[in-house]
Amino acid sequence: MTNPLPTGATIGILGGGQLGRMLSVAASRLGLRTHIYEPGANPPAADVAHSVTTARYDDVEALTAFARSVDLVTYEFENIPTEALDIIEAITPIHPNRQALGTSQDRLVEKHFLQVLGLSVAPFADITDAASLDEAVTKIGTPAILKTRRFGYDGKGQSRLKAPQDAASAIADMAGAPAVLEGFVTFTSEISIIAARNPQGEVACYDPGENIHRDGILHTTTVPATIPSRLRTDAVLLAAKILNALDYVGVMGVELFVTPEGLIVNEIAPRVHNSGHWTQNGCAVDQFEQHIRAIAGWPLGDGSRFADVVMENLIGDDVEKVPALSKEPNCAIHLYGKVETKSGRKMGHVNRVKKSA
Ligand code: AMP
Repeated sequence: MTNPLPTGATIGILGGGQLGRMLSVAASRLGLRTHIYEPGANPPAADVAHSVTTARYDDVEALTAFARSVDLVTYEFENIPTEALDIIEAITPIHPNRQALGTSQDRLVEKHFLQVLGLSVAPFADITDAASLDEAVTKIGTPAILKTRRFGYDGKGQSRLKAPQDAASAIADMAGAPAVLEGFVTFTSEISIIAARNPQGEVACYDPGENIHRDGILHTTTVPATIPSRLRTDAVLLAAKILNALDYVGVMGVELFVTPEGLIVNEIAPRVHNSGHWTQNGCAVDQFEQHIRAIAGWPLGDGSRFADVVMENLIGDDVEKVPALSKEPNCAIHLYGKVETKSGRKMGHVNRVKKSA
């Protein structure tokens, strides 16, 4: 892609959740339209998109019509069936590319890729059955975490082994799915870096944020992170290395463990990321606009941070705090328009903003 997308062009987005919604708003601010493809009814993104296709990912006709109606396709989640991507890609480009998606869809492929790049990852082993798990536990030791290779998110598809005796129940938890055993990393904190790359090879990174999880789900992201400058630089360098290696176009979230020995890469997400929501109120160009700029072939925007921000997710009943939050000074509210509140469901987030000293 050499020419930037012109005004009125349409970006197809696979997935109609909150990320698709916020991407649609950003696209429309740049004079572009979005077309959402989502199997579920009433997706959050439908409220703010130009058009919506409600169809399954195995509906060849719907996928074909969708791909023909747009100028390029992006996505808000990584577990998209390969066959659906093949149909779309035969008609229109997909950004970020298939290599990025294929790498991040499979924890084993991802770990090998990161290792080949010379980046640190937790000790890991390929697990196919009880015998390979026993062997891996002997080698890696406990505590450890068994994770499904594919389709895990928000801590789902994971089982912790406190001691070798936990192996039998952990393998049962995987229900026959291929898995990876990871040695437990004793981290001092968890951070993530949101990075962008455009087709011209320009790279821009946001300041790393410090993440706190509750019940496996992101609870808060705080910027600035309490890490030394040295690690801030390491985070930027490793993110740029990953983007270049994948010839990546778009925004990526890279989750990192901070340890006394340096940064260890936990996982990469080839999309805008929950831990990057703080950029909406802390930067001139947020991660959503940055992603649209990158895939539309625009120059990347200025992602420098002008404020200290604490992003807090509103999960399930947290949404009932909105009336009180709406009276708080310097608290920006972002709601996803989800009508039904469910436990563990991301309903919105707030960004508490304080001007940087
Ligand atoms: P993940 O779905 O892989 O991002 O894991 C969810 C959360 O579990 C992470 O944010 C960490 O808090 C924790 N976790 C995952 N893998 C490890 C590991 N190898 N060592 C220590 N904690 C981990």
